[in-house]
Amino acid sequence: MPDIVPILLGDRWLQPDCTESTPVHRPATGEVIGQTPMCSAADVDRAVQVAQAAFPAWSQTPVLERARVLFRYRDLLETHFEELAEIICRENGKTRDEARGDVRRGVEVVELACGVGHLMKGEVLPELARGIDGTATREPIGVCAGITPFNFPAMVPMWMYPLAIACGNCFLLKPSEKVPYTANRLAELFLEAGLPAGVFGIVHGGREVVEALCLHPGIAAVSFVGSSPVARRVYELAGQTGKRCQAAGGAKNTLLVMPDALEEQTLDALLSSAFGCAGQRCMAGSLLIGIGDACDELRDQVASAMDTLSMGDTLADDSVGMGPVIDARAQKRLRGSIEAATPDMPLVRDGRQGVPEEGFFVGPTLVDEVRPEHSLFSEELFGPVLGLMRPGSLQEAIEWINRIPFGNAATIFTRDGGAARTFARQVECGMVGINVGVPAPMALFSFSGWDQSFFGDLHVQGMEGVLFYTRQKTTLTRWQGATTAFTGVGERT
Ligand code: NAD
Repeated sequence: MPDIVPILLGDRWLQPDCTESTPVHRPATGEVIGQTPMCSAADVDRAVQVAQAAFPAWSQTPVLERARVLFRYRDLLETHFEELAEIICRENGKTRDEARGDVRRGVEVVELACGVGHLMKGEVLPELARGIDGTATREPIGVCAGITPFNFPAMVPMWMYPLAIACGNCFLLKPSEKVPYTANRLAELFLEAGLPAGVFGIVHGGREVVEALCLHPGIAAVSFVGSSPVARRVYELAGQTGKRCQAAGGAKNTLLVMPDALEEQTLDALLSSAFGCAGQRCMAGSLLIGIGDACDELRDQVASAMDTLSMGDTLADDSVGMGPVIDARAQKRLRGSIEAATPDMPLVRDGRQGVPEEGFFVGPTLVDEVRPEHSLFSEELFGPVLGLMRPGSLQEAIEWINRIPFGNAATIFTRDGGAARTFARQVECGMVGINVGVPAPMALFSFSGWDQSFFGDLHVQGMEGVLFYTRQKTTLTRWQGATTAFTGVGERT
């Protein structure tokens, strides 16, 4: 049997006590490359105790010393950049370039976290009241937990732990059981950078671990990224024990092409948004919207461009355009959704055809004439399936977009500033693209899903991430005998 993936407690990599495990596949071939242990609530409890023991010293470590560990970590991530991308390629199946992007976006959050001294600076207001000065400082909150999905094995965990740890917290990560190796390597490098034992821990597993993290009284905050039903459940469970929680869920993102924007640059952006990472991005455009007469041409041009996408083993061949989906279950579910759409809607390209026999492949699929009443309109499929919609006007397109239960991202392609402004102002979602197919806000802004795409109020990364991982303390100070009045403007010679 392949090796059981170890967990990280303190600075030791251990085999957990649990007896159950689940196979880790290489999606491009289907072969089993490891076994993720399904840890228990008792394993979580042990990990929380280790992190709690590390918290006092780490939270009192001067902020610039903490930042120095982050700077060293950033250098190590650069040194091991290609190695990390290769691990992602192997266990997730995305292309090497997509895997590089996964690591790069994560490193950017580490770079943001290197500036923690500035990010955590508080506020001071002298003479808030007569003879009284006021300050507001931000302090770490304790042991934080992160639960992450399979689709970005590096970036999504790094949305969380670098900022949490830089702010003086300890952090326990529960990576997706489908991609445990990237997380373990990221943690090894953090220890190599000089992070004290116990500040970062990893517990592998599934539902039992997630529930134990949400309910454990020793955990102060939970960050979650994954599908909406689990996000909602995590948010509810964390609330039961009074924890702060940020839970990002699924999405149904739209790509609206105005007739004036049907050009090569737009087609490239559409293709990359809908079929990049085999459609397994929470920012993937899964509904293409054309307006009026330009719709047929849009359909034909997108379909021809799709025909240029090759599929295969992304680890063995760098020229492959699209990798597999994550596992056999996802492959079966996507094939079923294509099958279910067929009676109602014209299938312009059918991803069940012409795919490699080995591995978990689904080809790029285009379904025409999707309408708001179809399940393809409102359900997240999370794969390379693109639905084409044909509203009569920009206004009708916006009305349709605003009926989608998820409020993640919407993009407009146009040369018309008025149309772009109307779209950006009226569309009800947290991330808007104007001629940008994947409008992910990168490290400096927070990742801003709305509605069914997010449960909580402070989002991951950016300044909201810092606020989430710190709490404010205000101090009012009065010193008897201090002179508070200005003595007048001095004369300078
Ligand atoms: P998932 O919800 O199945 O799993 C996410 C995490 O939750 C994993 O660690 C998993 O082990 C755990 N989990 C799964 N089922 C659980 C349950 N019943 N109880 C408790 N924990 C459970 O998601 P996934 O398939 O790994 O990832 C794909 C999903 O993530 C998509 O819906 C995608 O849109 C979403 N996603 C969202 C964002 C965002 O920023 N909004 C980013 C990336 C991915």
